[in-house]
Amino acid sequence: MSASAANPLVTVLGGGQLGRMLGLAGVPLGVTFRFLDPSAEAGAGTIGSLVVGELGDPDAVAAAAAGADVVTYEWEGVPAAALALIIDAGTAVWPPPAALDVSQDRLTEKRRFAALGIQTAGFVPVDDRAGLDAAIAKIGLPAVLKTRRGGYDGKGQMVLREVGDATPAWNKLGAEGPLIIETFVPFDRELSILAVRNVDGDTRTWPLVENHHVDGILRVSGSPAPDLTEAIKATARGYAIAILDDLGYVGVLTVELFQVGDRLLANEMAPRVHNSGHWTIEGAVTSQFENHVRAVLGWPLGSTEPLGVSAMVNCIGTLPNPLDVLAVEGAHLHRYGKKPRRGRKIGHVTVVADDTATLESRLSSLRKILPPDDG
Ligand code: AMP
Repeated sequence: MSASAANPLVTVLGGGQLGRMLGLAGVPLGVTFRFLDPSAEAGAGTIGSLVVGELGDPDAVAAAAAGADVVTYEWEGVPAAALALIIDAGTAVWPPPAALDVSQDRLTEKRRFAALGIQTAGFVPVDDRAGLDAAIAKIGLPAVLKTRRGGYDGKGQMVLREVGDATPAWNKLGAEGPLIIETFVPFDRELSILAVRNVDGDTRTWPLVENHHVDGILRVSGSPAPDLTEAIKATARGYAIAILDDLGYVGVLTVELFQVGDRLLANEMAPRVHNSGHWTIEGAVTSQFENHVRAVLGWPLGSTEPLGVSAMVNCIGTLPNPLDVLAVEGAHLHRYGKKPRRGRKIGHVTVVADDTATLESRLSSLRKILPPDDG
């Protein structure tokens, strides 16, 4: 079932920074890449060939997939139906399209988590205005109203603190399709776990990461997350493995988690490589990108052990002076080749060190030269 080790062609649906970093990891292994992206300027276009077209267009997807050994994706909005056509035509698609069906709808996702024994915030579907009042009566306030489909980076959601917030929230989100309301979780911190599984069922997890968001956008990820109990680590690993096994999953999977005391609640999953795993490029024996490529090709996986401690800082809307970053000991700069725009992730810096004290000192040097986000 594994693709030829000679010179396989991998088609990636999406040519943003995730596709670009998949390519950067796979090219040294002798892999050739083709990307599908709506923009002729897509950052991954410098790493492999680029087909310009919509990811939801079955013809464009078929053209990008032609002759590929395997098709994968870096964007979870790809319609599962377009992928089913590729599979019918005889080309493997990993992760399995069923993972998209689950992750594209927050209600399906939370129900699947619950069925697997994975704890989540309380949730209720909301289909109309009366349903919102009934849901609030059921789960109480504060709560978070979210679109079931299409939300990302904190978009498509609103926190409701009092009953009077229901109407403005409905006015904002009610027209955007079916909704879900969740109990507001007073979490201690946000964590994520990245896991990878290959076609033989070999499964590995990277250490839990602690994530800090501002305005719904990830700003900083630290790995390994400090102060983890063995129980928390085992629970997170158990959640990830339950999802991987349930879906017959191949590739990298990310599960975003809330820690509340000694409990872990799953917020959502991403069936792809993830921003909170960028640190693995320099901070782990094998990066999320390389292991994803290995997994989808049916190749052996590499170790997910960390190399010391690391922190990844996103560059949002603006980039620091590259030479200033390179002058910080242990800092690694990644520029995505994207035009700066407010709120847009255009690069990241990962700082690695052997111990926490050294990491902190390097991070304080970095902070001095980082412009404010969108600055
Ligand atoms: P999401 O789009 O679900 O990833 O949510 C974006 C961010 O909103 C999360 O990273 C949390 O910081 C926050 N958030 C989402 N859902 C909840 C919740 N049920 N309770 C508290 N905070 C939440």
